[in-house]
Amino acid sequence: MVIARVTGLAGVLQTDSVPLREVLGRVLAHDVVSDRDYPPFDRSIRDGYAVQAADTHPGAQLKCIGELKAGDTPSISVSAGSSVQIMTGAPLPDGADAVVMIEHTSREGDSVTLDRAVRSGQHVVRKGIEQSAGGIVLAAGTRIGFAEIAAAAQVGASHPVVTRKPRVAVLSTGDEVVDFASSPGPFQIRNSNSVSLGAQISLLGGEAVILGSAKDRLDELRTMISAGLEADALILSGGVSMGKYDLVEPVLREFGAEFVFDAVAIRPGKPMVFAICRGKPVFGLPGNPVSTMVTFDLFVQPAIDILAGAEPRPLPFIEATLTAPLAEKPGLTHFLPARLTWSDDSPNVCPIVWQGSGDVVAMAHANCLLVVPPERERIEAGQRVQVLPRG
Ligand code: AMP
Ligand code: MG
Repeated sequence: MVIARVTGLAGVLQTDSVPLREVLGRVLAHDVVSDRDYPPFDRSIRDGYAVQAADTHPGAQLKCIGELKAGDTPSISVSAGSSVQIMTGAPLPDGADAVVMIEHTSREGDSVTLDRAVRSGQHVVRKGIEQSAGGIVLAAGTRIGFAEIAAAAQVGASHPVVTRKPRVAVLSTGDEVVDFASSPGPFQIRNSNSVSLGAQISLLGGEAVILGSAKDRLDELRTMISAGLEADALILSGGVSMGKYDLVEPVLREFGAEFVFDAVAIRPGKPMVFAICRGKPVFGLPGNPVSTMVTFDLFVQPAIDILAGAEPRPLPFIEATLTAPLAEKPGLTHFLPARLTWSDDSPNVCPIVWQGSGDVVAMAHANCLLVVPPERERIEAGQRVQVLPRG
């Protein structure tokens, strides 16, 4: 539902031309096009001898008439009965159509003896076969990682045009919540959600706009939610449960929000809200820090990808072997903090002892979430389970 609704909202994105060194994690707004054929010449991909394949058979003797290393301009050509010693990355000389690996030859003076035949084209990558001049190397909408940076560098795209980072406003709520850098009173709580959400947004390539924390009062929530709706998306934490002072939903309703859903069948995270308000996606995440993190990963992440102009990244679930039995109340899908290890040839996973969705330290000691399906009450050690690794 998030993917469908946010896709419908995406408008025209502003763009930036960004130096290649700074472009990691951004999304291409324009295609990256090759400025030349790649490889730019018929390229040897082995050290050996450039030959005419028709000359080659076990025991064939060829005369070596020269040498070519990477970067050389070929000036000699290979004819029947001759060869040129060639290094990896060098251009194939005229007349040659294959390379015999050095390991399959022996040399005495200028005479080269082959121990096998090669096919025409063997150990050669032809000009333009990987990429032709003018062709699209990376399409608009591609998220740029290290391999994409290499591909852009290869074709001289030194300043790719990328979309502006989506601005995602973060508003915490709660009378008890104080800035994490201040000294809390005995019954106050440091605000960890604003910074963890900010970090999760940054990791996805968004720009977090941290609005601080609102008291559980209608006037303050109105002002701050209104400010948050200036961004491309708004994430709230806290104030979405059934308590008397959970006022996020009533205030969003005043702003004309359309609620797409206001609960999800998972734990932690059940009271999560997703709404569209003034054309912007709004996520009301539960305030317990682990709930906030889990619901962000499951539901907010695809929205940020779409707002950035990319396809939503699939959640990278993997299978692992459970190393300790576990029991959970059936009815909801549980996402438990757990540790994934690779002690053998397959991954193992063990849940972490925790005190529920407020236990942020347990979450910090975990490196994955272990998924317990709603129909399972007990899972024995040795069973295969689904795991969502972090990061
Ligand atoms: P709520 O969802 O508002 O009912 O809050 C649930 C629990 O999460 C309460 O124990 C809050 O004190 C705690 N909490 C709410 N917001 C934050 C926050 N920004 N940082 C850390 N804990 C929070
Ligand atoms: Mg609260």
